[in-house]
Amino acid sequence: MTMKWMEQELQSLAGEALERKLRDSAPVSGRPGYILRDGQELLNLSSNDYLGLAQHPAIIEAMRTALLTEGAGSGASRLVTGNRTPYRELEDALADWQQCGAALVAANGYMANTGVISALVGRGDVVFSDRLNHASIVDGVALSRAEHARYRHNDMEHLRHLLHKHRGARRKLIVTDTIFSMDGDQALLHELVQLKGQHGAMLMVDEAHSGGIYGGNGEGLCHSLGIHSDIDIHMGTFSKAFGLYGAYVCGSETLVRWLVNRARPFIYSTALPPSILAGISQSLEIVRSESDRRRLLLAASRKFRTMLRDGGFQTSDGDSPIVPVIVGDNAAALRFSAELQEAGIAAVAIRPPTVPEGTARIRFSLSAVHTERELEQAASCIRSIGLKLGVLPL
Ligand SMILES: *Cc1c(COP(=O)(O)O)cnc(C)c1O
Repeated sequence: MTMKWMEQELQSLAGEALERKLRDSAPVSGRPGYILRDGQELLNLSSNDYLGLAQHPAIIEAMRTALLTEGAGSGASRLVTGNRTPYRELEDALADWQQCGAALVAANGYMANTGVISALVGRGDVVFSDRLNHASIVDGVALSRAEHARYRHNDMEHLRHLLHKHRGARRKLIVTDTIFSMDGDQALLHELVQLKGQHGAMLMVDEAHSGGIYGGNGEGLCHSLGIHSDIDIHMGTFSKAFGLYGAYVCGSETLVRWLVNRARPFIYSTALPPSILAGISQSLEIVRSESDRRRLLLAASRKFRTMLRDGGFQTSDGDSPIVPVIVGDNAAALRFSAELQEAGIAAVAIRPPTVPEGTARIRFSLSAVHTERELEQAASCIRSIGLKLGVLPL
């Protein structure tokens, strides 16, 4: 009886078309860019495997070899006995790739953000965070107990106002996604660098959706804009473009020494399995050297945006592989997604609280392995469904 509230809450979520459910899916052998769901092979427009590396044979082989030589688990946290040699090799390669003093591997992006933010700020400090930043940033701020000053999305005047208001704070941290995960648009990084300088704040960027995708060697958006040395803390994940799992934090040697001493998710959690580290190292080599994958992805993203716009949809600007179509109503977004599945396309409905109330959407995400023909067919199908459901004016 003490748990009865839960059933009631779930019922009310379901009533608002907000209940989330797990659905089984599997890769389709020999067909990257597709998934198997409910017995159907679907074009996967909801994956973050942007470069198509999740099934890459060289990465799988590197992981297999490491499994056989290093075993399954690492056995302890890194500060105890879990700090296997592949960590040092990978972190050296990461610092070299990002051209910064040092790098630290984290278990995943969620733990990197919560760990870094709570290590950098605390009571008496203020974090300035874009309203559309990822949930792991929001949770990191809550964990840190610093004051959370959220500015309107990409609204630099609002940020300037908040920085001025909190000018007496002990430490100030500005944090932003570089590519916003549910909208696919870019942060105003030049402006953020300028404001950080004027107000003596630290600047942290989350390159989850830009690492591997932008920059000559896939370093991320800050490199491609030539401002990477103005960023104090870079973080990114290996779970998206890298096709694997894990995350990185790059910055000065001092920063990494501090995190080793103060980032609690790093200190109090078991080291990643060595096979994952070996896979990441191999993936990093591919990301750095195979720039064709980036070129294909960005070209496909631009083209797909144009096709949707020509079809009458509004979507975010730019060339990122995240292309949202805002439906608005939660139930309508679910219906849209169900119709897409009928038509052979996997594209999930994203609803509150992941996105603001009234902005439920289909978030299309592209991969370098998608062909032009697949995307053309998808765009025409999306348009038909949009017309049928009244999302597009007739
Ligand atoms: C996915 C994501 C994360 C979390 O990364 P994981 O490695 O999946 O835990 C953090 N930040 C942003 C912006 C993301 O999109």
